[in-house]
Amino acid sequence: MNYPQSAYLHIPFCYRRCFYCDFPVVPLGDSARGEHGPGSNSIKSYLDLLYRDISLTSKGIPLATIYIGGGTPSLLSASQVASLLDHLRSHFGFQYGAEITLEIDPASFDKRSLEGFLDAGINRLSLGAQSFDDNVLRELGRSHSSNDLLEACDWIQENFKRGRLASWSLDLIRNLPGQNLIAWKRQLLKAISIAPPHLSIYDLTIEKGTVFAWRVNRGELSLPNDDLSFDISKITSQILNRAGFSRYEISNYALPGHASRHNRVYWSGASWWGFGQGATACLWGNRFSRPRTRKLYKEWLETEETTSKLGSLKSIKKSQSIPIEDLLIVGLRRREGVNMQELSKGLGWTNNQLETNTKELKMAWAYPLKKGWIKQKGWRFYLTDPEGMEISNQILVQMLEWWESLNGCSYD
Ligand code: SF4
Repeated sequence: MNYPQSAYLHIPFCYRRCFYCDFPVVPLGDSARGEHGPGSNSIKSYLDLLYRDISLTSKGIPLATIYIGGGTPSLLSASQVASLLDHLRSHFGFQYGAEITLEIDPASFDKRSLEGFLDAGINRLSLGAQSFDDNVLRELGRSHSSNDLLEACDWIQENFKRGRLASWSLDLIRNLPGQNLIAWKRQLLKAISIAPPHLSIYDLTIEKGTVFAWRVNRGELSLPNDDLSFDISKITSQILNRAGFSRYEISNYALPGHASRHNRVYWSGASWWGFGQGATACLWGNRFSRPRTRKLYKEWLETEETTSKLGSLKSIKKSQSIPIEDLLIVGLRRREGVNMQELSKGLGWTNNQLETNTKELKMAWAYPLKKGWIKQKGWRFYLTDPEGMEISNQILVQMLEWWESLNGCSYD
């Protein structure tokens, strides 16, 4: 049995909720801090739950990637991050050279706490920049200013150059209300001038129940239309390719050697542990989400402690593999694409079935193949950048319809 070699830990605290965010976060106010000040008791009692959650789980094998995400994990103090990693290390062990990532937001840490995070063992950072424009940051409801961001980038880059950090990523959001090509290009060039080795670029999505959803319904936000979105996507890839970045997944670009190993686990179909309120784990093809509220998370932990379900992993069918639909979806998001021959091995197809089913898939994809939005290399199919990646949802639907026709099932 292959035990997971990756772990995700969720820290749900933020200063306040950004206007587009529907994550399970706990807003603590603008002066929240890990060990002292407002919110500190809430953080401390949550960390106790997180330790209990980790202790409940089967020991497995040493971890190769660890990701502390949120929320705003940099609201924790350096000593809290160190204790969390110590707890995880003493439970599972860490492999030599394990990638240990911390998500951080500008204005939630200073130079000293950054050094503390690195001393604690963090070797990769993911900085939630979102934009260098103060008006945009205000519009998004972010807690930081562009000055906070530039200061944070300086501190991180200094440590990266000194070799204290193996890598770091800067996150931006595009397709924002009122954004045009020139404004986006300016953001991108600013990001490149800072020289992060990895960039995550997310398209704004309007989630139900957010301030943005409410404003869109009132007609107060004008979002870029499809043509502009496509141009924004195209220019992103052009500029980043010229700067040496490769798009290894729909939302992620990296310089050689800087693709996130942890993210690749999510997209490869491998298992991972997930700890904390609202965290998702994927164990031998089964996905589990912890409850999204503190009260329910605590009650769930108490029940698990009584029945020891997680410890024995009795509830998990260990031989079950990742659902094929998931493999198809994550496969297409990656630069490598989907390899039909590998898929067919997992499914036990004969050579004839492989040939017939691939022919049918090509018929389902006739138009995007003809337009060059999907490329074929041997048995491998992958999306082109930016054209194919930009319309990935349509291409995914066509692929799932093909899968549905093979199996006589429905995804409605
Ligand atoms: S900082 Fe991130 S997780 Fe927190 S509210 Fe804003 S978008 Fe959501």
